[in-house]
Amino acid sequence: MTSLPHLADIGVERLNGVGSKNQDALASMGIENVLDLVTHYPRRYLDRTSQAAIADLVDGQEAMVLATVRKTAGRRTRQGRSLVEIDLFDGSSYLRATFFNQPWRAKQLPEGTQAILFGKVDRFRGRRQMTNPVVDLVGDRTGRIIPVYPQSEKAGLMTWQIGGWVAESLRRAQRFDDPLPQEWRDRLDLVGRDWAMHQIHEPDSIAASKKARQRLAFDELLRLQVILVMRKRAVEQDAVGIRHQADGPLVGRFRDGLPFALTAAQAAAIAEIATDMSGPHPMHRLLQGDVGSGKTVVAVAALLTAVEGGHQGALMAPTEVLAEQHHAAVSSLLSGLTVPSEQTLLSDRPLRVALLTNRTGAAERARLQAALIDGTVDILIGTHALLTEKVAFRSLGCVVIDEQHRFGVEQRATLREKGPGLVVPDVLVMTATPIPRTAAMTVYGDLDTTILGEMPPGRIPITTKWARGPLEEASVWDRVRSEVEAGRQAYVVCPLIEESERVQARSASEERDRLANAELSGLRVGLLHGQMPAKEKEAAMDSFRARDTDVLVATTVIEVGVDVPNATVMVVEDADRFGIAQLHQLRGRVGRGEHRSWCYLLGGGDGDGDTDAGQRLGALVRSTDGFELAEVDLELRGEGTILGTRQKGATDLKLASLRRDKELVATAREVAFDLVDRHPGLVGLPDLAQEIRYLVDEDDRDFLFKS
Ligand code: ADP
Ligand code: MG
Repeated sequence: MTSLPHLADIGVERLNGVGSKNQDALASMGIENVLDLVTHYPRRYLDRTSQAAIADLVDGQEAMVLATVRKTAGRRTRQGRSLVEIDLFDGSSYLRATFFNQPWRAKQLPEGTQAILFGKVDRFRGRRQMTNPVVDLVGDRTGRIIPVYPQSEKAGLMTWQIGGWVAESLRRAQRFDDPLPQEWRDRLDLVGRDWAMHQIHEPDSIAASKKARQRLAFDELLRLQVILVMRKRAVEQDAVGIRHQADGPLVGRFRDGLPFALTAAQAAAIAEIATDMSGPHPMHRLLQGDVGSGKTVVAVAALLTAVEGGHQGALMAPTEVLAEQHHAAVSSLLSGLTVPSEQTLLSDRPLRVALLTNRTGAAERARLQAALIDGTVDILIGTHALLTEKVAFRSLGCVVIDEQHRFGVEQRATLREKGPGLVVPDVLVMTATPIPRTAAMTVYGDLDTTILGEMPPGRIPITTKWARGPLEEASVWDRVRSEVEAGRQAYVVCPLIEESERVQARSASEERDRLANAELSGLRVGLLHGQMPAKEKEAAMDSFRARDTDVLVATTVIEVGVDVPNATVMVVEDADRFGIAQLHQLRGRVGRGEHRSWCYLLGGGDGDGDTDAGQRLGALVRSTDGFELAEVDLELRGEGTILGTRQKGATDLKLASLRRDKELVATAREVAFDLVDRHPGLVGLPDLAQEIRYLVDEDDRDFLFKS
């Protein structure tokens, strides 16, 4: 019997036919040991019994054929480009493969070579051809189904060589342990690990390869979820939290003082959070809600629940502008609220909200630090400046982290450690825009989740237009002018120039001057960007809030938090440079009041809508639902960007995809909860425990497996 970690101890050089040259080639593909090798899964399979014959290929369709090279010719085109033309024959007909700018193909594919070609078939001068197809050298492989391994060609290896080493590794491994209890295997109708490991490499049929994939993808997701669930349980069970009072008078007064009634979703979220916070263990909850769904009110209720019992709250935002915005918003939501004063026992004092960022001056910082320690600051709002060692609280009871994907797990942990003594404060993480459910389960899998799935009533959906070409752009500026005439305001967002000159975006200040003298002449045009001194930024925002500015030309610093209900037009220049989430967030700056609003996306006009940028902009025009857009985003960008390497075990995802395997992610999470809760510390599941230990680093190992 063999476990996966055991295979990691066997270097590939111990396999037949792996000399130093092949060892280097394998290393260039990230394969150093036998575990790497057996988890280097085929990219696809060629089924010899049902493969397409060249004679049957249909023009315009993608196809895969196995054929033998009959003639190879290389030359240069009149423009000087290298052109390699290869004629292949499979017994039914001829196919020409044409390669541009890949002169090495002539050497790779000499006459007599057997190769698998994958690509789109078209016809050139009456003959079938593929242009720049994907090529795999199969060599002399027998067998009905041939696995095709990725990356082999770049490393100068043939797919059959890799297949041979994999086969040898499988023979050496003999039987693979199965870490999943039989009970779950039966319930989920999953094949065994050992069968799966063999069948994914040497399947008896294409159907068998699919079953094998299903099982091994599940295993990857299960390992990841087990780590997350163990982390979650470790934090919950070992940490002592503060038993806050749920639904106290302070929260009640706050709710009664709001100028609107809470939505049902907000009320439910606040209740759920109150239940967490009044429990013995610290809260670790994720609050997901679309732009404008009213997350701030929920966050403030959580902070007040801490303040209620004489503790403090902290709100951490990813940028200074956002921290400043939160400070302004929270201060105004809390204005007039009082808390019992310790000095004068009989009277109340105003609740105190303070701001701490890197811009806070030394003297003010010192004052603040003292006030945090003596407890006269109730709620502290700031950037990661909150994480510095010098910031200490008298009794930090609740932390809200406006995550925006920018803080890591470690930073969250640092704030958590700022609680009183060994007590861990309650933590609420907010996302600025929704992320798909499966991604949330993975990126935030150590947290509980609350979804604010409802918008405050009375919002008129924002009309979004993708303005392409000068005519349409002209109508955008007409709209800005007519809205300003009607007493409304507008934003114009232009991308910030990055250090590199290659980024061809125009700087915000140039654009402000240009617009003020052209399209927007006669209007009061303001400027806001991240490089401005804090005072100027505040002045610019104040002027806009006071309606002394009609149009605010800004960089993405206004992306989040800005809340001016009178603004009804959002113009995003070079919108094709932005991602879906960012555009949705920018659009969320309008449509916040009772007036009808518009969002105009400029740029990306050369595309026909089929480009990546075109698909992003098209999605925004079609939908205003952040959860729906998050799914599109995942579809377009893949999971890499969402997952990053932030999650332990994420790099273990070789087969599984958050995109394609949504149900499998949810199932793996369910199984992980079951296993971890029935077998704390994975005692009784030695095979699974061994795999998990292998995946996580030492710190995590101690944390997760402490007994
Ligand atoms: P986000 O979830 O994007 O952070 P905010 O908390 O900024 O949303 O709220 C968006 C706007 O909706 C704010 O102007 C806020 O005052 C308002 N708002 C929040 N809750 C309600 C409600 N229940 N009814 C009406 N307006 C609300
Ligand atoms: Mg608690």
